[in-house]
Amino acid sequence: MNFDFIQHDVIEQKSKSRYRQLVCNSTTSQDNEIVIDGKSYLNFSSNDYLGLNNHIEVNRALQEGADQFGVCSSSSSLVTGYHYAHQSLEADICQWLNKPKCLLFSSGFAANLALFQALGKSEESHFYLDKLSHASMIDGAYHSKAKVKRFNHNNIEHLTTLLTKANQSADKLIASEGVFSMDGCQAKVVELAQTAKSQDAWLYLDDAHSIGVIGTEGQGSNYFSDIDITMATMGKAIGTSGAFLTCSDDLHEYMINFSRHYIYSTAISPAVAWATRKSIELIRKEQWRREKISELSALFGKLLAPEIELISTESSIHAIIIGDEKKALNVSETLKKQGIWLTAIRPPTVAVNSSRLRVTICANHNSKDIRYLAGCINKAIA
Ligand code: PMP
Repeated sequence: MNFDFIQHDVIEQKSKSRYRQLVCNSTTSQDNEIVIDGKSYLNFSSNDYLGLNNHIEVNRALQEGADQFGVCSSSSSLVTGYHYAHQSLEADICQWLNKPKCLLFSSGFAANLALFQALGKSEESHFYLDKLSHASMIDGAYHSKAKVKRFNHNNIEHLTTLLTKANQSADKLIASEGVFSMDGCQAKVVELAQTAKSQDAWLYLDDAHSIGVIGTEGQGSNYFSDIDITMATMGKAIGTSGAFLTCSDDLHEYMINFSRHYIYSTAISPAVAWATRKSIELIRKEQWRREKISELSALFGKLLAPEIELISTESSIHAIIIGDEKKALNVSETLKKQGIWLTAIRPPTVAVNSSRLRVTICANHNSKDIRYLAGCINKAIA
């Protein structure tokens, strides 16, 4: 049979408790519930950190955008797809993050591939990625022509050692996530920025899990320091879809001329761009959403049994390491029976023997939800 690795690999995946399957979500509510197979669960696996998905004002803006500009951009940005709605959203993002330029992409995955491939033009480019960087950063870096090195997670000393060994004429890019997607801890943003400056490198941060959640106006990592290039997806705290990159005028001009992912891809929906403007307006002014995440996160940490450790409480993401994948699946199943949806995260998303529960605490949870969750986890893990 042709491609017989297909069956073989799936069987192997099942034997390792790593098998994945789609579940269809038919939720209609604005609260943090999820409906699967007609049953309602408390959702602790959503990345809608600020509770803006299905927000009435964002939905209204989407409708208004669709009525005025249509749902589809109908071509790539450089043909006719670049719309007034996109331009207005980019201007809002530049003002929010105090950046010269912004570019929109259909997803964060595409934006990461685009950036690394554009900057990795030859072996003269050297990329330094934190070891816990997202799959899309790793794929983008290794599929480019750059030389790629990985530094130990959040380890500035190791990064500096690698940088000082580099050819001084190389073009150097340091890359990390702003908040790490599977651990929830923050990158050492200020130290990374200082290291970049002192080593004549650029700093690139993937703020997928920081945007909206960190900073007095949800600015993400740019709240701590001026980041050369930032990427953030709009499909998590922003509550819409697509992604953006912020960068210098020069890099913007270069990407428009040379980034294959940008040039040959249909521009995002103008209606979604219009809705995203409303979402960002809410993110900037509604600090209570971030305060609620902090309060509920502190409560969760306090209520967990002393032997259960969280990797971090610095963001919406709270990871509890279980270790074995089968055990992690069993805990997730037990919680499901108690009305809690909490997906077990297993290899290859995380390292072998570090399967975990990745609890996301969002602004539309309440203290009753958190008490119930902590009680159920304490019993399920004991
Ligand atoms: N970077 C990180 C750190 C992510 O967690 C994700 C989403 N899982 C992405 C990039 C990709 O973003 P998108 O979902 O918009 O493709």
